[in-house]
Amino acid sequence: MKITIYNEYLHEKHDEYIKGIYPDGIHSCIAKFLTEAGHECRTGTLDDPECGLTDEVLADTDVLIWWGHMGHHLVPDEIVEKVYNRVMEGMGMVVLHSGHNSKIFRKLCGTNAGELKWRDDDEKEILWVVDPAHPIAQGIGENIILEQEEMYGEHFIIPTPDELVFISWFAGGEVFRSGCVFKRGNGKIFYFRPGHESVPTYHNEKIQQVIKNAVKYVKNDSIAPMTYGYVEPTVEWKK
Ligand code: ZN
Repeated sequence: MKITIYNEYLHEKHDEYIKGIYPDGIHSCIAKFLTEAGHECRTGTLDDPECGLTDEVLADTDVLIWWGHMGHHLVPDEIVEKVYNRVMEGMGMVVLHSGHNSKIFRKLCGTNAGELKWRDDDEKEILWVVDPAHPIAQGIGENIILEQEEMYGEHFIIPTPDELVFISWFAGGEVFRSGCVFKRGNGKIFYFRPGHESVPTYHNEKIQQVIKNAVKYVKNDSIAPMTYGYVEPTVEWKK
């Protein structure tokens, strides 16, 4: 499968502590375990022309993974529009952590999905599997325990997910819909909450397993071309 990983790549360059966790950026960490799983991975960052998401790259991408935080506004609207159109055509998408407030995720949701509660206090998170039969939950067991994460709490302004796979509990008492599938056009989108830049979440094997399961789940094998607009009757019915 052809996977493109977009990461704004700002925190890891500007903060020595974060660079220590992800020396080559979050995108490289994700690309490494997905490549080891047999996928063909490309990456794109704000340093690349068109964020690395050129027409050629998007047309050749089965699944796009998105991590962004402080640079959402630096992604040009034209690129957001192109990504949106590719999702409508059937490209899969996995939106991670603070990608909830990206232009593309808010456009796909149709709500201001940037609105939620948050607290950056290195607290414990338990992600509970609420749909054990779901393909994205395979091999995970009942839960994923992360000793340190940023808290995101409800209410999260998203449309009711088409499929809900995980709910998180945080030590401070809040809960959050942490693994949500949305279907838009011919595309499937999986939002996965964990992945704050200052904790080593993407080094966690269960988190990696969820992302490996998710790319398979949101990838469309083949979509027959559909006709839209005026058509002659499919079956002759007039005498
Ligand atoms: Zn964060």
